[in-house]
Order: sequence, then C-alpha cells, then structure tokens
Amino acid sequence: MQWELRLVEKMKASLKPFGLIGVLLIATALMLAAGAFFITQQGNKAEIDIDILPLDPAALAAGEDVTVNFRVNDDNTPYSVVVLPDTQYYSEEYPEIYIAQTQWIVDNRAALNIRFVTHEGDIVDNDDQYKLEWQRADEAMQILDGEVPYGFLPGNHDMQPDGTANYYREYFPASRYESYDWWGGSFSDNKNNYQFFSGGGEDYIVIHLQFCPTDAAIDWANEVLAEYPDYRAIITTHAYLYESASRFERCIKNTDGTNNGLDMWAKMIRPNTNVFMVLAGHVPGVSQRVDEVDGRLIYQMLADYQAMENGGNGYLRILTFQPAEDAVQVQTYSPTLDEYMTDPENEFSLGLGITGGPQATGTVTVSAGEASCTAAVEQGSCTLTLPDSGETKLVAEYSGDNHYNPGTSRQVTITVK
Ligand SMILES: [Zn+2]
Repeated sequence: MQWELRLVEKMKASLKPFGLIGVLLIATALMLAAGAFFITQQGNKAEIDIDILPLDPAALAAGEDVTVNFRVNDDNTPYSVVVLPDTQYYSEEYPEIYIAQTQWIVDNRAALNIRFVTHEGDIVDNDDQYKLEWQRADEAMQILDGEVPYGFLPGNHDMQPDGTANYYREYFPASRYESYDWWGGSFSDNKNNYQFFSGGGEDYIVIHLQFCPTDAAIDWANEVLAEYPDYRAIITTHAYLYESASRFERCIKNTDGTNNGLDMWAKMIRPNTNVFMVLAGHVPGVSQRVDEVDGRLIYQMLADYQAMENGGNGYLRILTFQPAEDAVQVQTYSPTLDEYMTDPENEFSLGLGITGGPQATGTVTVSAGEASCTAAVEQGSCTLTLPDSGETKLVAEYSGDNHYNPGTSRQVTITVK
C-alpha cells in the first residue's frame, strides 16, 4: 500500500491563538473523506498541509507493511492579487461600477487564483460629509467579506483634514475583520492594518498605511515588518509616487508628524529587507519605478484611473504571480467594459525573484502505535508495519526547517481501524 504524504507551507495564521484548529479539522476530514482527503493544520506561524493519497481507512489492515511517501509540494500554480485604485467617484456617483469590481473579483477568484485584494485608499470622495458614499462603499466591499482576504486604508478623501474619520471608523473597523485568520492587526482606528496571504509556497504580508502616515504609524509598520522578516512584504499606501515616478513630497507636517513618499522610503521601505513592492494611488495616472538596494529589487507602482470617464471606468489591476516564470504579470482590466489596457504602462511584467515552490529540509517520522519509521524529506518515503491492534493512530510528524520557520514540527493523527 502506498500513501502519498505531502508537506506544504502555506499561509500563516498570524499571531492569534488558532493553533489547535487544524487538530480539530482532522476528525472532521476523516469523517467526510472517502479516499483522498485533505488536512489543514495551522500553527502560530507556519502552516503545513498534509495530503495523503489514496487513503481508505477501512482498508488499513493490522500487520501490514505500509510505505508512506512524502514530498515537499512544488506547487508552481500562478496566483494573483487584485489592486483597487481610488474608488472615490464610484462611491459618489457610480456605485454600480464599484460593485462590478468586487463582484468580478469574487466571480473570478477561482479562475485567477486570487489570493488577496488591496485597496489604495480614497474609498469615498467626501470624507464624513455624506453617509451615502460610505453605505455604497460598504455595499461593494461586503461582497468580498468571507470570500477573499483584503486590506484598505483611508486616503485624504476618507478623512477630514485633521485626520478625523468617523465614517471610516464606523464602516471599516478592525472588529469587522478580526475573526478572519488572514487578518494580522491594525493601528490607530484601523487607519493602518496588515494581512497575510500565500501562494506557491511564498508567504506575504501586506501593510496598508493611511494617507501621509504619522510617525507613530511608521514606527508601528517598522515593528510589524521586523516581526515577519521571512514574509515578502507589500506596502500599500495612498500617496507615494507622482506620474513622473518621483516620490510624493506634499504631506503637510503637523504635530503628529506626517510622512510623504520620500520619508516612507527612507524610514521604512528601504531599511526593511523584506519589502519588495509598494502600491499607491491618489495621483491620477500611472507610473512605476524600480530601485535596487543591496541587490534587493523594490517595485513601486502608481495606478489611479479616477480622471477617466465614469470615475475611472472600473479599471483595476491584476498582479499575477508566476512562480515557474519567476515573474509577476501586471494587467489592467475593467469589469464593466470587459476591456484590458494593453499599453506598456498598464501591461507589463516584473521579475521578482519568486522561488519556484517551497524549500524544506528535515525529517518526517511516521508512527502507528509502537511501530515507526523516520526518513529525511529528500528521501521521500519510509515503511512501517501496522501494529495488530484493532484501532490505532497514524502520526505523521515533520520536523526541520521549512524555509520560513526553522524548527517547525507538526503532527497529524489519523485513526486507523
Ligand atoms: Zn487622494
């Protein structure tokens, strides 16, 4: 009998105490499974999926030699992130376009393997003046709730000049998202927040920073980035690049201390070696720049279509991460027009040094009662003899360095009759 046991590194469950959920899932999976089934186990950081194929628990006989094959998943399936540039005019005048955007995301989530959605700010146009704009924004964003992980931030149009953001706080509080395992945390009434997603064995953190973030927000972001050094980090903020691709310089310095694009670059983006991408809107138009810091490439992109017809015609960006090609394809698409912008400023490819699938070293120990076998991950299999008890447990344990979380050890228990 041959089983295949696959170890896959996946999304982190942030720091929240969800570590035991996976154990509970096992029992559920066993009951639901006929043949192959899938087990998800989450720890505080690394998540390892163990997929045993084929598995028919009823067929396991006592005294039988069982060979368990294992391998590190080499999943090179492309996955994507959708960027929502300034939606302010949709909330103000064209709510159906905003809804078309988020509905399109949900409708295409599986086909495009959409892992995350990031909103660049200016959710609405008139800060706390018109509740209706927020109701419309909420209606559009609700379509994503429970469907696709997402993050957002307040642009200058979402806050009053002194930073007050009553409706933002009312409609998009952190409490709305804290039960999701992809939600990382927030700062200052959720004006700044972070999330996780994963793809192709890479793990990502996305930090959203309010328009012209305060010194305190920058300090907070630096702490978060330091806490997740092995995650590839994307920063989304509202104002960062001009259409010329030079960095935004116009934040008004107030008593809280605010940071423009130059400040963000110097204080946060450049120093944190995990940051590889910065996304922003605010300035109508598009631009991109790539800076190299000690061999690290940092891709920075402006995309804001609000100056076009109908408040932007619903154009959004699709970033398709292609592990096999070691590239990210950038596309610009309007769900309402069903059209792509194919000029070189709106459709291009970035080489991002995405490794082809996860890397892991270590051992797997499989045991059932007294019987056990251990082999290095690279060896790919080990054999044990099932004990002759009527019912036992099969334990598969990975121990080693799964690239992100050295020393991780996970265990799965399966009842065998
Ligand atoms: Zn703006």
